[in-house]
Amino acid sequence: MNPITYFDYAATTPLCPQAVAAMVEALDHYGNPSARYQYGLEAAARVRQWRTVVAQAVGCAPQQLFFTSCGTESDNWAIRKGVELNRRRGKHVVTTAIEHAAVLETCRDLERQGYSVTYLQPDREGRITPDQVAQALRPDTALVSIMAVNNETGVILPVAECVRRIKAYDPAILVHCDAVQAFLKLPQPVACLGADLIAVSAHKIGGPKGAGALYVKPGVRLRPFITGGGQENGLRSGTEATAQMAGFAAACQAALSDPTRLERLEAIHRYALDRLRQVPGLQVVCPGDAPHICAVTLPGYKSEVVRRVLGDQGLYLSSSSACHRGKPSHVFAAMRLPKPWLDGMLRISFSPNTTREEVEKLVSALQNAAQTLFTTLS
Ligand code: PLP
Repeated sequence: MNPITYFDYAATTPLCPQAVAAMVEALDHYGNPSARYQYGLEAAARVRQWRTVVAQAVGCAPQQLFFTSCGTESDNWAIRKGVELNRRRGKHVVTTAIEHAAVLETCRDLERQGYSVTYLQPDREGRITPDQVAQALRPDTALVSIMAVNNETGVILPVAECVRRIKAYDPAILVHCDAVQAFLKLPQPVACLGADLIAVSAHKIGGPKGAGALYVKPGVRLRPFITGGGQENGLRSGTEATAQMAGFAAACQAALSDPTRLERLEAIHRYALDRLRQVPGLQVVCPGDAPHICAVTLPGYKSEVVRRVLGDQGLYLSSSSACHRGKPSHVFAAMRLPKPWLDGMLRISFSPNTTREEVEKLVSALQNAAQTLFTTLS
């Protein structure tokens, strides 16, 4: 079997060694943090430590940070309970047409329950402006949900400015931000975006799958989405997934103690774009504002076929978002790109440890695939 060359870090990341070690240790210490004897109290103390570390990475106080099972749960909780909290304002929600399915499908479900949802359309570069958001606000708007970094284009959305405009219109409107792809990828911690509710996930930053968190701004009296034994200060019940929390915190700690990681990401991203532009026929669709994602296309080729050819060589990238399961991307469709561009779309995403040699492997595999497939087609 070929060794793996991985360019799909926006879909998920390998567990960092620190997370593996922390998880093994946490699995060994099996005490229930709710138990009142010494072994349980020790487990509760460890949960407090893990919460402190993840909160530091998010940029908030530990009391504002609630562990969940994933980014999707955090998004669902924020949106469903956010609109419930603001039900007296009305039943209007504003979001963008380029959100992740965790937000879009939740909004569609709200529509089935009688809410009206405005989906803001991006321009041809995948951008949404604060003016668009401000113009969509209504006296009955309960909640605005806007992502920080798009998972397919790497475009950074102007969340902080949107929050300012929304709060100037009416401070009571709740703002939710899906920051799953922005978490530890931007110079500022995501809490600085100023949203009331912010969702993050562990498996995009070297932590385990099955761990996420929701930041809740002080004063926002969000009700629980999952009820039961009252864990997470009564806001998210379920016996604490201690190994998941330990791995999440260790991955945050590893990132926080690696001050050059964003510079390395940016450098390899720049290098890859320069080299990819030399692949005959390849077009860069979104160079990516965020340091870890870019989108390119090979017009005239089917990205599914290119992805499979590269996959056979152990080289992994995404033909669209991993969550779409082969369906054409709603993000690029919303950008109204020509069909051959949509068909040939590839997302390439990096880690701070991606090497130039790996990029060279990708470039020559793309060149060979384009040549071979072109010969087969003609
Ligand atoms: N939001 C965005 C922007 C994502 O990219 C993803 C995962 O791909 C999610 C939400 C869902 O996160 P999770 O996989 O932790 O449920």
